[in-house]
Amino acid sequence: MSTWLDTPTYAAQFNSSEDFNGSVPRPDDFPEIAEESRSYWIREHRIDLDHTQVDTHLPTNVDVVIIGSGITGAVAALRISEKKPELRTALVEARGICTGATGRNGGFIARPECYHLVKTAKIIGTEDAIKLRKFGNINRDMMLDCIEKLGLSEDVDLRLNGNINVFETQEEKDNALEDIKFAKENGFEPEGYYLDPEATTKKFGLDAELCRYGSALLERAGTFYPRKFVHNLLLTALERMPNLTIHPYTPVEAVRKVETPDVQYEIRTPRGTITSKAVFHATNAYAGNICPPLKGSNGVFGAKAHLLALSPNTPGNRDKQLKYGFGYADFWHYLHQRPAHGSFLYGLADAEILNDYDDSITLPTDHPVRAKMAEMLERNFPDWFENLDLSKDVTHDWTGIQGLTMTGASIVGRPSIESPGEFASVGHNGEGMGRCFASGTVASDAMLAYLDGSEYSPPDWFPHCYRRNI
Ligand SMILES: Cc1cc2nc3c(=O)[nH]c(=O)nc-3n(C[C@H](O)[C@H](O)[C@H](O)COP(=O)(O)OP(=O)(O)OC[C@H]3O[C@@H](n4cnc5c(N)ncnc54)[C@H](O)[C@@H]3O)c2cc1C
Repeated sequence: MSTWLDTPTYAAQFNSSEDFNGSVPRPDDFPEIAEESRSYWIREHRIDLDHTQVDTHLPTNVDVVIIGSGITGAVAALRISEKKPELRTALVEARGICTGATGRNGGFIARPECYHLVKTAKIIGTEDAIKLRKFGNINRDMMLDCIEKLGLSEDVDLRLNGNINVFETQEEKDNALEDIKFAKENGFEPEGYYLDPEATTKKFGLDAELCRYGSALLERAGTFYPRKFVHNLLLTALERMPNLTIHPYTPVEAVRKVETPDVQYEIRTPRGTITSKAVFHATNAYAGNICPPLKGSNGVFGAKAHLLALSPNTPGNRDKQLKYGFGYADFWHYLHQRPAHGSFLYGLADAEILNDYDDSITLPTDHPVRAKMAEMLERNFPDWFENLDLSKDVTHDWTGIQGLTMTGASIVGRPSIESPGEFASVGHNGEGMGRCFASGTVASDAMLAYLDGSEYSPPDWFPHCYRRNI
């Protein structure tokens, strides 16, 4: 759990309770994604399902409808394919497959897990705060296990060379050390550890001034290609499930519960209505639009984030590769280099905007964040960047919508107790690669138990603060 709303960037924007109900676009109003505003991931990896499945006949009656085709929707499909492959399942997506946050993010898998621990423990208690911090590694291990079992390491460009967070201030460092101490005192031995300034500079070849407060390092962490992962999960589910259909460009306009006498749902789309026994909301920032209990202060709201891809521009760059994932100032800055001396992908959270859902528009060219990013690259990554000319050296420039919640906790389970067949895993607060795999699996298991008529309670390691009516 992160409490991003405490940060100056968000606090300055968050003025009234109306902010919870910002104007989430209607699904049929999601902006078109123009070629120039497509993310690096979307432009560099085409998902053929967008074309091969677009005319697939929309079924009228199924067991499960999954709404959304990011990592959460794909994990739900995969989980059903593992446990109940015979279920009649339709996955519907408003735009192209995996063009939401999962198709636009930083691609980081896990970060040093001891951050904001003491602060979080004061809000939700020590036991659950520690569960939360362990959960990041459990999610990582489940995801890596899946990648290994399906033989996808190469396909998804998996690189596990570690992720560091370099501290910006003495206070950030002190808090991190305090968090590690607190974890140990409470019986949790974190994997992530502190590196002093000299060790950080030496190990990562970074500028001594940048590293003057040291860093935290998680070795079993790194980066991958989230969109390729989603693509592969969907192909796997399709292979295993004779009754799975996938429907890109099919926005869900409404979900209605009907009792006939069993509970069923009508899922209305412009292409027709599907009747289903259960519904899985994998809609992240847009969840409140078609699921009222997920709107408002107890629900999800959007925050637009921005990333750049830049080609290294120094003559010597061909032989050099940044191997690890780099975070700075509590991962406020996050960057890594794509394999084979590829582009740097760089996000800086200064530019994030609450309740802005237009991911077809990127930042103005004179936005001050761009100059700050250029300065970070030239000063601290001189092996790759000098005299940057952003109009030439930026190759991809895009935005994406994160789903935030007021508490920072994800919402996993049933949006409402009155609607027993609706399930959700949404609101991952910009940390979805660290949360979605395990959260999507838990929500799917709860749904499968409901369909079976059996009892379900989440595994003991699953944080209480994420659970919603399960
Ligand atoms: C710019 C950016 C950088 C990020 N960087 C990182 C990072 O480095 N590490 C990390 O851990 N996390 C990062 N995140 C967060 C992470 O990407 C998300 O938490 C995660 O991808 C959420 O996955 P999801 O499947 O739940 O949602 P999404 O990938 O957003 O998928 C939701 C899908 O639902 C569809 N949908 C919504 N409503 C409807 C409807 N009514 N009908 C049909 N379809 C609908 C949407 O079109 C969308 O495709 C970043 C996010 C952004 C935007």
